[in-house]
Amino acid sequence: MAFTPSLFSLFNWERPQMDVIVVVLLVLIVLLLSSVIIAFVFTTTSQFLLDNRKVLFVTAHPDDECMFFAPVILRASQNSSTTFLLCLSNGNYYSQGDVREKEFYKSCAVLGVKKEHARLINDPLLLDGPHTQWNSKEIEKHLLQAVNDFHIQTIISFDNWGVSGHPNHIAISKCLRQLVECGRLPTSIKLVLSLETVGILRKYSSIMDISISCFTNWQFCVISNVKSFIRAQAAMNAHSSQLFWFRIIYVMFSRYMIINTFKPLYYQM
Ligand SMILES: [Zn+2]
Repeated sequence: MAFTPSLFSLFNWERPQMDVIVVVLLVLIVLLLSSVIIAFVFTTTSQFLLDNRKVLFVTAHPDDECMFFAPVILRASQNSSTTFLLCLSNGNYYSQGDVREKEFYKSCAVLGVKKEHARLINDPLLLDGPHTQWNSKEIEKHLLQAVNDFHIQTIISFDNWGVSGHPNHIAISKCLRQLVECGRLPTSIKLVLSLETVGILRKYSSIMDISISCFTNWQFCVISNVKSFIRAQAAMNAHSSQLFWFRIIYVMFSRYMIINTFKPLYYQM
């Protein structure tokens, strides 16, 4: 049986390694093209999550807000939602807490979060550090205080893996899960979303992850346009004390600077 000219005929069957390269290249081209197309078309899918809501983002360290949550914070700020930010430590692991606190408020301004809507906690029981176990009751205290003070309806934070696996991120997720499971969420809360952690290949595939994110989680997917992407970069530049080479690589290639996908932890119709 003779094959007509097609993609099939591109493969070199006598050198299988060439086939692998061709297949990988084709997959990358398809991913890139579909992602670019989706990025231009897909702008509104997740707006229903955010319209007319008071949304509280709960993070662990100054810079989490732009390294992980910039797409959804910017989207919420552009919608009719009011955005609030609760950062549970001043990031004092390298004794730079004061500097990082100032950088946090600069970053919030770039992301469209008003200074009076941003709260940074400096609590000796919630010290920044990969070996510090955060007390769940202490997290709960600050979280519920912010929910009550700001009349919050939606909470957005990390999932069980905390994107980077940082124990402080995971501690927030654990606390939120306990609040949901024990029914201790204030009645004003209608929706709790956790930011989806993806594998390392997808994490650093930048724009190419757009199509995968859309197809696997289109209901809870936020994609930045070019303008928002530039603002996210500008917010990260506000954290000048943190701009080490590895973080610059992160900012250049991480899909979290462009895409956020979520899993619902709690919702009330
Ligand atoms: Zn962090």
